[in-house]
Amino acid sequence: MESTMNDMEEEEVVSEIESLREQIRYHNYRYYALDDPEVDDAEYDRLFRELVSLEARYPELISPDSPTQRVGVAPVDKFAPFRHVVPMQSLENAMTESEVLEFDRRVRKLLEIDAGVEYVAEHKIDGLAMEILYENGILAGAGTRGDGEVGEDVTANVKTIRSIPLKLFPGPDGVQPPPLIAVRGEVYMDKREFEVFNDSRREAGEPIFANPRNAAAGSLRQLDPGITASRPLKAYFYSLGQVEGHEFRSQSELLKQLRDWGLPVSPYWRKCAGIREAVHFFDELTAEREGLPYEVDGVVLKVDRFDWQRALGEKSRSPRWAIAYKFSPHQATTRLVDIVPQVGRTGVVTPVAVLEPVGVGGVIVRRATLHNQDEIDRKDVRIGDHVLVRRAGDVIPEVFEAIASKRTGAERPYRIPDRCPSCGGEVVRLPEESVHRCLNRNCPAQLKASIWHFACRGAMDIDGLGRKIISLLVEEGLLGSVADLYRLRAEELENLPGFARKSAMNLVAAIDRSRKARLPNFLFALGIYHVGSHIAQLLAEHFRTFDAVRGAGREDLERIAGVGGTVAASVVSYFANPSNVRLIEDLLEAGVTVEGVSGPVKVEDDFWNAKTVVFTGGLDSMARDEAAARVKARGARVTDSVSRKTDIVVAGKDAGSKLEKAAKLGILVLTEEEFLLRLGE
Ligand code: NAD
Repeated sequence: MESTMNDMEEEEVVSEIESLREQIRYHNYRYYALDDPEVDDAEYDRLFRELVSLEARYPELISPDSPTQRVGVAPVDKFAPFRHVVPMQSLENAMTESEVLEFDRRVRKLLEIDAGVEYVAEHKIDGLAMEILYENGILAGAGTRGDGEVGEDVTANVKTIRSIPLKLFPGPDGVQPPPLIAVRGEVYMDKREFEVFNDSRREAGEPIFANPRNAAAGSLRQLDPGITASRPLKAYFYSLGQVEGHEFRSQSELLKQLRDWGLPVSPYWRKCAGIREAVHFFDELTAEREGLPYEVDGVVLKVDRFDWQRALGEKSRSPRWAIAYKFSPHQATTRLVDIVPQVGRTGVVTPVAVLEPVGVGGVIVRRATLHNQDEIDRKDVRIGDHVLVRRAGDVIPEVFEAIASKRTGAERPYRIPDRCPSCGGEVVRLPEESVHRCLNRNCPAQLKASIWHFACRGAMDIDGLGRKIISLLVEEGLLGSVADLYRLRAEELENLPGFARKSAMNLVAAIDRSRKARLPNFLFALGIYHVGSHIAQLLAEHFRTFDAVRGAGREDLERIAGVGGTVAASVVSYFANPSNVRLIEDLLEAGVTVEGVSGPVKVEDDFWNAKTVVFTGGLDSMARDEAAARVKARGARVTDSVSRKTDIVVAGKDAGSKLEKAAKLGILVLTEEEFLLRLGE
């Protein structure tokens, strides 16, 4: 490409490049530092690619501070810094198959080989990159990526994520974890958990997160690990920082070994004999993507052999031996044909847009949520409008904006009706809520939605009981509550439309299998406000039996790390409500049994386990020695001075310089009251 310019041209190009850099820096800040992006990823990627292509045309204008030369942003100073001995890089992106084939050509040219290169293809889970350091197999530190060199020390928070082991164990073949290893992976939130979580926030009037990635990042980057503990975070590991005392030869070996040491590794990866097979893996994922529990934004392809990775080396921002093959953007424009109110399990009436079918990122979208009346008003969306639809991340499609310039004048504004479309009951907007609700407890739409929730995966897990069948059974008068499921007989079903003898028997058998429920599943299935499957798990592990959960008071509940006041209040009021009590009795009478949690409590899950604690100042409730003994009994280490390694400082009366230091290092500080609460005694 021509790279000499006249002055006029140069001025224009320089100002275009500067403007792109400014915009990208701003969006980086919103995305990485605030976890609150203003534009979607497709728009960001468009700006980024424009800058990359301008810089490729005019390489003399590349400056070391250009966003194309760096990773992320520097960490914010509310956390202590976490240094990456081996820098954490980003990945180069490919949007099309031909870009992927070009990547493979480059790899083979640099390696000077004609034959096919072996690649490992992995899901690119959309979460937050994290490095975790294990010393002699013990979790010793954890940091976010930050600007690649220095991230944020989030050790205390990471310790609350249950799928991340605090201790590695020797593999089945006796391979010991090395004295020092930094493993890297993604902290993320499952799609379903994300929706439950956002629903609770919406109900509580708190701002919702745009997608699971931001929710995961916002949950992890908390000063109070108690908040992180209450969020349903998970992690998968896929790469390496520094290592001492162990030699890995390939990516495929690394993935197997990490799993053998007890680290979670996504089961979906494949060693591919050449680039064609890797492209095929991407195509398969495109088809399966909707059904995956987590959100993926593409596939990462990595040269398998580590000696070849070393030979290929790195650029300033990304390695030459890997590429992210990303799905096409998640947005499209179409016409909004109608808006229909849809009633959910708690009576919330959500306005749903009926669209002219349009392909968005590989799936056909026919309906999209408009959230609530305030959102419709704010975006001024009208029936008949042309609208931009996007899948916020991968979750439910939403109407992002109306394209006012395409209006003809025939478009009509919309208001949520004041009568329920399902039962005709009154629909109101309660003060302090952003949503409208149908107040009729016997509304069939609510019943259908709650049966669907009850039957879904993670709850009672009833195979083959989808929305359509539920709707049919409710309309036929066969289901008046979830308990009626357990009274269904195959003979009643086999003559219904869509059923035959065999399918009727299969459904009854699937329902029968669900009779024996595990406690966390059962608690989740009941659909108690704010109780997603993560909170259900916490409750089950703490109380062990259903009766104990049922009988728990607010204070008992609030003692559990990860359970706050809102959740506690909601659980208590659920079990105090006579119609819920009747429903539960009915379920138990119909033969549902709830299997309690047995065996020793997993100490790993205890708030105090493996924490380094410093006490400062005097406590009113007990002597300091006793306080120390109590947390030690729960697996904590107590030290005298505050350092980076400290997880928690308990500050009593007249706390002095230790408190200041803790604040400077961003360490969690507990007051005496909070300490007692966490002690839960
Ligand atoms: P990236 O997301 O394109 O790729 C690198 C990241 O992929 C890694 O850091 C890691 O977190 C992740 N990853 C997931 N699975 C992986 C696997 N199996 N192996 C290796 N890595 C894996 O790059 P990035 O630098 O993290 O972020 C850039 C992207 O973030 C942009 O393309 C854009 O989509 C988004 N972004 C959006 C905004 C916005 O304002 N909307 C701003 C900044 C960045």
